[in-house]
Amino acid sequence: MALKIYLNGKIVDEHEAVVSVFDHGLLYGDGVFEGIRAYNGKVFKLDEHITRLFESAKTILLDITMTKEEMKEAVLRTIRANFLKDAYIRLVVTRGCGDLGLSPSKCKAPTIFIIADKIKLYPMEYYDKGLDIITVSTRRNAPESIDPRIKSLNYLNNIIAHIEAANAGCMEAIMLNTEGYITECTGDNIFMVKNGAVITPPTYLGILDGITRVTVLTLARELGYEASEAVFTRHDVYNADECFLTGTAAEIMPIIKVDGRVIGGGKPGEITKILMNEYHRLTRQSGERVYGEEEKESV
Ligand code: PMP
Repeated sequence: MALKIYLNGKIVDEHEAVVSVFDHGLLYGDGVFEGIRAYNGKVFKLDEHITRLFESAKTILLDITMTKEEMKEAVLRTIRANFLKDAYIRLVVTRGCGDLGLSPSKCKAPTIFIIADKIKLYPMEYYDKGLDIITVSTRRNAPESIDPRIKSLNYLNNIIAHIEAANAGCMEAIMLNTEGYITECTGDNIFMVKNGAVITPPTYLGILDGITRVTVLTLARELGYEASEAVFTRHDVYNADECFLTGTAAEIMPIIKVDGRVIGGGKPGEITKILMNEYHRLTRQSGERVYGEEEKESV
């Protein structure tokens, strides 16, 4: 069935959801976006995603021309228009149409669109057996140049790293910063577990401040684990007890091999499995309701 897309205030059919070739989102990757998930008719961490979108936009001086509340409602409306309960939502705000110059001054209004679709996941078997990944040579963008906390439409840094991983037969890649510290993966944050403590790199190294990352840090502390942000290297990962990735789409994915080094026992670690279960429970428990009670029955 063709999707219904939110485009600049209207819900339109998929084939009508087109943007101009003069859109600076397309010409320059000038814009911001979010990837959001809904579980059983509830949008998980919607406020956090909307806040991150507006913060990314503020840093690049992009005026969204909608309030956060209006944006939230637009997300819910798009999910409803597609009668979805479980969904992956892509929310995009570009600089809008301008001329061929770099300057955004000719871009009079942002282009805002929302796609709500069924989610495509990592194959389920990897959640049981874990991923085998590598570090790639492409370094994560330096925050002094472009802060990876901005979730911008310019994903070439990550795409190049992803291609390197794919060429080596891997589904994800660990990216280092220019000093050689572990930052994150191409579309997910990274964690390791050592002596019962849960550790993830700090945002100042140059990473996206993942919403799943923050949720997992909080969850780990609530479960009584020591959970902190710390700088670490490949040596630490190779010798970790456990390792996993986090992201809205992936949730928590165990890592069992990095650069040919087997992590822990070569199978998903115990703390990783506990966090996976608890995260799974949380996503089905909380969130912003998409439908009223009556509507819910008919979806
Ligand atoms: N890092 C990068 C580079 C990402 O693109 C993403 C989102 N796909 C993440 C981390 C995970 O962030 P979140 O938990 O907010 O989805």
